[in-house]
Amino acid sequence: MDSEGSTLVVTGMTYEELVECVTSLGVERYRADQIADWVYRKRVFDFLSMTNLSKILREEFSRRLEVLRLDLVEVQTSHDGTRKYLWKLRDGETVESVSIPYPDRKAACISTQVGCPVKCAFCATGQSGFVRNLHTDEIVAQVLMMESLEKERFNNIVLMGMGEPFLNIRNVFKAIEILAHPKLRNMGWRRMTLSTVGIPEGMEELARRYPQVRLSISLHAAFNDVRDYLVPMNHKYPIEMILNAAKRFQEITGKRVTFEYVLIKGVNDRQEDAQKLVELLKPIKSHVNLI
Ligand code: SF4
Repeated sequence: MDSEGSTLVVTGMTYEELVECVTSLGVERYRADQIADWVYRKRVFDFLSMTNLSKILREEFSRRLEVLRLDLVEVQTSHDGTRKYLWKLRDGETVESVSIPYPDRKAACISTQVGCPVKCAFCATGQSGFVRNLHTDEIVAQVLMMESLEKERFNNIVLMGMGEPFLNIRNVFKAIEILAHPKLRNMGWRRMTLSTVGIPEGMEELARRYPQVRLSISLHAAFNDVRDYLVPMNHKYPIEMILNAAKRFQEITGKRVTFEYVLIKGVNDRQEDAQKLVELLKPIKSHVNLI
């Protein structure tokens, strides 16, 4: 069980776990596919409404199983259609997710922690402190809840909301597997991006386990003294270490890496910052996303 409560949360289970769960209830394994189809494709979260199951099964599943839902506290819609959702979790904590429409696709940005221990200087989440890691089902639920409310599927998922994904690596990797699995959300590995401040061990593990998932690194500075201030974790993982890890990621996956760079007036937007950035990134096949 991933979250509190007396039922088993199916949206925190890998496909193999879902099959095992269903068969442990004495039911045929193909019932797992039926549940997955209702939840991930038809966005029906109430077992009593899964009409291709017998009434007895619907009632049995309804008693024993659950699809985690999040309480919507607030949604803010901006002029370009971007929607920012605030969800309340079972323990009363809150997290944000964002739905971003593009002309040809739609992306979900989801959180991985309640608060964040990284404490980036420019980030309200970081300044408000760290509360806890999100459970797997809470990460998956953000995607399902937004898709259900917007009645439309996302084309991309970016793990870049509140939190540093590699500091919650077990739950994040499991959520990635659930979202990517063809029998579950079927997002497709290469349509998912993990955004990190740059934790070399995590980057190596991502490359080895999920080489098709994209990597985005929040660099934000070309000099260590500037980055020490903007992203305090730079004291532990300075720029050279992160760039080496990015090269390693590229060697393993063959994939281009994206570097995020938030321009802050008078801090990291000087001519010398731009020159140094170009020099640093020359050996790496990359995109730079100036924010
Ligand atoms: S890692 Fe992300 S969420 Fe955490 S403090 Fe930095 S910008 Fe904010």
